[in-house]
Amino acid sequence: MNIHEYQAKEILREYGVAVPDGGVCYNSASARDMAKRLGDGPWVVKAQIHAGGRGKGGGVKLAKTPNEVRDITREILGMTLVTHQTGPEGKLVRRVLVEKGCNIANELYVSLLVDRATARVTFMASTEGGMDIEEVAAKTPEKIILEPIDSLIGLAPFQARNIAFKLGLNGKLANQAVAMFIGLYKAFVGCDCSLLEINPLVVTAEGNLLALDAKFGFDDNALFRHPKISDLRDYDEEDHNEIEASQYDLSYISLSGNIGCLVNGAGLAMATMDIIKHFGGDPANFLDVGGGATIERVTEAFKIILSDSRVRGILVNIFGGIMKCDVIATGVIEAAKQVGIKVPLVVRLEGTNVERGKQLLSESGLNIVSADGMADAAQKIVKAVAG
Ligand code: GDP
Ligand code: MN
Repeated sequence: MNIHEYQAKEILREYGVAVPDGGVCYNSASARDMAKRLGDGPWVVKAQIHAGGRGKGGGVKLAKTPNEVRDITREILGMTLVTHQTGPEGKLVRRVLVEKGCNIANELYVSLLVDRATARVTFMASTEGGMDIEEVAAKTPEKIILEPIDSLIGLAPFQARNIAFKLGLNGKLANQAVAMFIGLYKAFVGCDCSLLEINPLVVTAEGNLLALDAKFGFDDNALFRHPKISDLRDYDEEDHNEIEASQYDLSYISLSGNIGCLVNGAGLAMATMDIIKHFGGDPANFLDVGGGATIERVTEAFKIILSDSRVRGILVNIFGGIMKCDVIATGVIEAAKQVGIKVPLVVRLEGTNVERGKQLLSESGLNIVSADGMADAAQKIVKAVAG
């Protein structure tokens, strides 16, 4: 789960990490009031969407007077902001963050993430703040500073100091950096994060460190421990089908292709997507209905796939182990009755109660292409969608 920048900054304040003063606004009049309340200008108005690259996309603007804050807010609210992270369709801006502007002397980058290679939380930093960090890592990997953290000790002060020195921070700034980095680490662990990124972390002209932007990613499996964080979820920012799916405990991720996939087991789902790609097709989604799916859940899964207007064909690929093939077949038939299937449907069933499942499907009167094995199934759906 992700949250907005203004929410991220509220959490950082609780952990003693320095962020600019500011607050969220939902209309232009309250944005002007907010500016006045914050004291002297200039102010910054920032579009709140769950995507980065807002600066370049016109979603971050400087204002010199409270009236300008109001006018800029009026412009930004309701606009569809397109950045390199939103995709070409962009994202509708429904909230802005109004905050005190600062004089930037230098922009740095810091983040915390879980490094799978070392199985540790790792502190990442770079002097190249404000840039796309993926690009920095690709073009100038020597500018990426990495500090793996021992989970029993936590981020040790000497490690934080090393990072600060490598970022060129000395004296008072190094002291501020150590306190801030340890605060960031505590926030990361305390909130069960998968990612915490500050880009840019700025050195101000007055010689202070400030987290100017903040991005949190949370481990969904730990959210039950954080009801306050769960409450920050903004459903407007999430894929409608993914929300639907999560309500039925289905693992669903929407993708950009046109072949809908209904599969049981994450591994089989990955393999199915690979083989579709291998034969020149493009999956519209990842969907794992799980081992113990009921007829109701399979029906919902099918409805979710069908509600995606890009879907030109569906591949059902089930290996019935714990999941029984007749349950899948019944779900497919039930969903077809409820919503109607107008696209080609290829079904590959194998395993428990497979004969019963196949019989149900053939008696259903649905127009189904049955397949033997994964390669056959993938080739058939790719052909059906192309034709
Ligand atoms: P992002 O583009 O979505 O990552 O949004 P950021 O919050 O990182 O803002 C983008 C850029 O706007 C930053 O890298 C800064 O250069 C600039 N910016 C943001 N806040 C201020 C501010 O208070 N003063 C100045 N001068 N620039 C700012
Ligand atoms: Mn940023």
